[in-house]
Amino acid sequence: MSNDRIIRCITSDGAVVISAAETSDIVFKASRIHRTSPVASAALGRLLTAASIMGAQLKQENASVTLRINSENSELGAVIAVSDSKGNVRGYVQNPLCKTEYYENGKINVGKAVGKNGVLNVMRDYGMGDPYIGMVPLVSGEVAEDITNYYATSEQIPTVCALGVLLDKESHEVMLSGGFLLQLLPGADEETIKKVEDNISRIEPVTTMLAKGMSIKDICDKALEGFEVEILDEMPIEYKCVCSREKVVKALSMMSDDDIRASAEEKGHAEASCHFCNKIYRFSKKELEEIIELKHSKENNE
Ligand SMILES: [Zn+2]
Repeated sequence: MSNDRIIRCITSDGAVVISAAETSDIVFKASRIHRTSPVASAALGRLLTAASIMGAQLKQENASVTLRINSENSELGAVIAVSDSKGNVRGYVQNPLCKTEYYENGKINVGKAVGKNGVLNVMRDYGMGDPYIGMVPLVSGEVAEDITNYYATSEQIPTVCALGVLLDKESHEVMLSGGFLLQLLPGADEETIKKVEDNISRIEPVTTMLAKGMSIKDICDKALEGFEVEILDEMPIEYKCVCSREKVVKALSMMSDDDIRASAEEKGHAEASCHFCNKIYRFSKKELEEIIELKHSKENNE
């Protein structure tokens, strides 16, 4: 049974909202699917956690949020995480075997692997109409700081974001992962801001709190010490891919006839693999001809 959950809370005066998530199983699964090095596990895990929290804030049933970080000379390449509006996520990193370097205190240097002069892209797709697209330069590449900066500069919402992935020192397996996103609403006065700042200055890293056995509700209470806290909702979350053979067929249909045929030249069949879950979809030459035929019959009907 997975412990992965997301909770959203609000102070009873309506001045502060906080979402907290445990994503240990999600990030463990992501690290297994993509066979990530320690730094790739940390970067992808943090971004998956942020995406889950931001996705769960969307109200529309079919909405999704896509986070992408990348920089010119990134050793990791692009890191991508997508969440649905229930906080279920999927993601990948372009170079999962990226070499891991550490800070002097033993912490993984995610910022260095992400690289300098990078950007964070945020795309919210509401399932209808035009998606919202935001972009900010990366501050540190450590992800949480970049999410905080995104909200401050792009959406003018004072935000505190904390994200953490704890790996086993020897095996480098993902042990714990989680995060929170705290936001001040327009009703927040000076006293509220002071109290929140005090709490945040004292709060321990998320994985330290999880390791102590604290629940995500306990983490919200800790961040909002001195406030009366109400739960808005709480739900289970998981690593969930949405790929299907149908979607691959649709993507193949976008290609030219020659390109569809050429994709089967070498092996006698075509293969397409999903970036998010590595599932492989195979198509025989006969199936490819059927896709081409179907494509033309659709074109003729339009
Ligand atoms: Zn997939």
